[in-house]
Amino acid sequence: MNDVPLEASLAYAHAHTEAFIEQYKELLRIPSIGADPAYRDDVRRAAEWIVAEMQRLGIEHAQVLDTAGQPAVYGDYLHAGEDAPTVLLYAHYDVQPVDPLDLWVAPPFKPDIRDGKLFARGAIDDKSGVFLHLKAFESTMVANGTLPINVKFIFEGEEESGSPTMEAFIEAHKALLAADVAVISDGGSSDETPRMMASVRGIVTGEVRVYGPKRDLHSGSFGGVVHNPTHMVGKMVAALHDDEGRIQIPGFYDDVVPVSEAQQALIAANEESAIADAREQTGLETFWGVPDYTYYERATARPTCDVNGIFGGYQGMGAKTVLPAEAGFKLSMRLVDNQDPKDIAAKFEAFINSFTCDTLKIDIKILSSSWSAETLVSGPVAQAVIDAYTATWGKAPKMERAGGSVPIIGMFQHVLDIPVTSMGLGHGSNGHSPNEYFDLEYFGTNIDTAIHFLYNMAK
Ligand SMILES: [Zn+2]
Repeated sequence: MNDVPLEASLAYAHAHTEAFIEQYKELLRIPSIGADPAYRDDVRRAAEWIVAEMQRLGIEHAQVLDTAGQPAVYGDYLHAGEDAPTVLLYAHYDVQPVDPLDLWVAPPFKPDIRDGKLFARGAIDDKSGVFLHLKAFESTMVANGTLPINVKFIFEGEEESGSPTMEAFIEAHKALLAADVAVISDGGSSDETPRMMASVRGIVTGEVRVYGPKRDLHSGSFGGVVHNPTHMVGKMVAALHDDEGRIQIPGFYDDVVPVSEAQQALIAANEESAIADAREQTGLETFWGVPDYTYYERATARPTCDVNGIFGGYQGMGAKTVLPAEAGFKLSMRLVDNQDPKDIAAKFEAFINSFTCDTLKIDIKILSSSWSAETLVSGPVAQAVIDAYTATWGKAPKMERAGGSVPIIGMFQHVLDIPVTSMGLGHGSNGHSPNEYFDLEYFGTNIDTAIHFLYNMAK
């Protein structure tokens, strides 16, 4: 037995890596596709599998907690004393749908090891976050009989569906989830450098429908006398931006604040690699957007407004002289820190309603919304993550700002009022795509990272 608790935990993990991988396959076999109602029972079965494993490991209060959507899983171990920090560890156990199924080499819920890679839906996004945290807990508890910090686990079942009911759930379980800091373990890295997510943007999505006559009309009989809904949609879409891309919704930028100095440095450091990466991903040489900002600022630190689709009228081959009864568009707005998604949604609705006239009917639907968030990139908690990666990967993580949205981060910050940092425990590729895999070379490495983190947080 090793006298140093950290070393003893690592030794236990190393001795059991193969067994852990075998056990991980059990969780991967459960098709917990949160978005598809046909898999409802499987989602619950995955939640119950996790609870049973928590109970086996001695995690307390392990339970499936119902939400208005997919169930969440909670458990805690709070015996490190009042002076030790309490950390809320977050991951999600739901997975993306699997189609197109014919592109999978092996079935997505029959875990298959090829070339040192474990192929299965959810292998890196994000059952790895759930399972590796549990194995870090097991390694520490079995080796030492105790944990250096207090931990609470919260595992979500509807992340891949945009977390539609999680805010209400967190609101209703504020005391249960109270902690000093939350750690988001979702996804991870795909190459030899660990990654930390430094920020995410918020989002508001919506849909506008414009209704005219009760049915499609002959444009020869009614053109010029009946107001055409597609013209109104074109007018609305054109009015969203000025010629250089500035969003014209009144008050849209009112609450935007400059990014922090630490984040500003990150933006500058990533500018060149972000452009090179974007050229490769888009096949474009020249980019577009408000000229007052750099590429990476526009991509991660400025708000956006994008029309995602326009519909209405005849779309088939050749001509059809129709005056359509209905037209519309879908849009998504990415938000940055301090922009309240509810306020932005209201400003967008007011802007669209300013087109109101007595010849058309306008309908607006807000489909989803979430806060943006900056995560910790410096200070003791971020350092505990950085040191954990550095000790196990041999290099410090690269900090990246994400242009996309992770609603749960903003919920933790705004509802629980706690800071958030990120520590992805997956390593591999093809998340959300066929042949998702975990690169097993890093399976043990990332359990080590999670173990180091527990001890670093105790310092
Ligand atoms: Zn994920």
